[in-house]
Amino acid sequence: MYPKILQELIEHLRKLPGVGAKTAERYAFSLLNLSETEVMQLARALGDAKLKLHPCKTCGNISEKDECDICLDKSRNHQLICVVQDVKDVVAIERTKQYHGVYHVLNGVISTSKGIMPEDLNIHSLIKRAESELDEVILATNPTIEGEMTSLYLAKRLEKKVKKITRLAHGLPMGAHMDYADELTLIKAMEGRREIE
Ligand SMILES: [Zn+2]
Repeated sequence: MYPKILQELIEHLRKLPGVGAKTAERYAFSLLNLSETEVMQLARALGDAKLKLHPCKTCGNISEKDECDICLDKSRNHQLICVVQDVKDVVAIERTKQYHGVYHVLNGVISTSKGIMPEDLNIHSLIKRAESELDEVILATNPTIEGEMTSLYLAKRLEKKVKKITRLAHGLPMGAHMDYADELTLIKAMEGRREIE
């Protein structure tokens, strides 16, 4: 049995996704091998990330300020909103450098099996944003059953409010996750987006 302090560290590391007992043990020992300065820097980075980052009040993207850099950027098209399920998807689309609109991060998708309902997601503020006569809302949830369901739900809620509602083209394989898609696939999916009637 390890000393209690070490056991506790291992238990904390096990909470990370994909980290089992063995990996947690390995991580704990490599952390112990860091210098005192490195450990303190890591602890501070962790604390800072948790305390200083929060959702952007407009779009839900992660930010150090009240509003994220994308929402604050006047050179972007604020009449064009791309709805994604996760902050990681914003980063994936930004990496393509082809999209110049703004975003709305849902923080998940509707899932009846997991008990995730529309009111658990960042949807209310999207409907509010749609009241300002948007040109287009791109529904860019993942092409999974839950992603499609969420898209359909949003399309219904947004119709009549927005001039055009589009869905990403199926260049993305069914069941794929946007943040794993390569840049070219994402660019093609964005270019080939179709209007939802
Ligand atoms: Zn924002």
